Amino acid sequence: MKITFVGTSHGVPEKNRYCTCIMLESGGAIYFIDAGAPIVDFLVNNGKSVNDLRAVFTTHVHSDHTIGVLHLVNLMNWYYKRSSADIFITEQEHIDATVRWTYTAGDGNMDEERIRFKVPQAGCVYSDENIKVEYIPVAHMKNSYAILVTEGDKRVLFGGDLSHGLKKRDVPSVITEEIDGFVCELAHFTIDELTPYLEECHAKRLFFIHAKPARYSDVDGIRGKYYFEVLTHHDGETFEI
Ligand SMILES: [Zn+2]
Ligand SMILES: [Zn+2]
Repeated sequence: MKITFVGTSHGVPEKNRYCTCIMLESGGAIYFIDAGAPIVDFLVNNGKSVNDLRAVFTTHVHSDHTIGVLHLVNLMNWYYKRSSADIFITEQEHIDATVRWTYTAGDGNMDEERIRFKVPQAGCVYSDENIKVEYIPVAHMKNSYAILVTEGDKRVLFGGDLSHGLKKRDVPSVITEEIDGFVCELAHFTIDELTPYLEECHAKRLFFIHAKPARYSDVDGIRGKYYFEVLTHHDGETFEI
């Protein structure tokens, strides 16, 4: 599985930083975890085809994780007519609004056979010949989730956004298992607040995103402290697992 960190900003775009958006590539297919960046622009700029997109999995409906869906769906509907994808959004109201917008913009046409909206529930929501995707509830907001992606014997947790100060103790317990990576935000809590969970973390790598630059500097304080690799990511960086 190849992971590309398309957007790594902290909830508000910064110079050369989009909000949370991660592209996964597996078996020639493309998937996105969150859509806080213009997905189609990114695919075009990187020589990828919208027709290879299989699914978009969003963790919650805050716009820094979902705004790219609207543009993607509009273009899939009227321009990329051979494209076909499952689009997971955690609130039916947001799906209804996106369908309505696309329908109106498309002169009354909305191809819901190619563009398949789904409201995810806790548990396995998707599987194909490449990956399996499981939604794990967190307490960032109503209907918010972390996402566990499995490819063969590899597993990576995408943490989504978690509770302020981690006061709701919502770091998914799967990090205590030997998963291959944990992609962790760092906007709603400090490294100190995360430390008790890191003590029990058995992920092989920790990827930090969704953080202000000062929080990335704080990460330097834990480099080398744990056996797992600690990485801070900027837009466009990739990692192969
Ligand atoms: Zn966010
Ligand atoms: Zn959020």
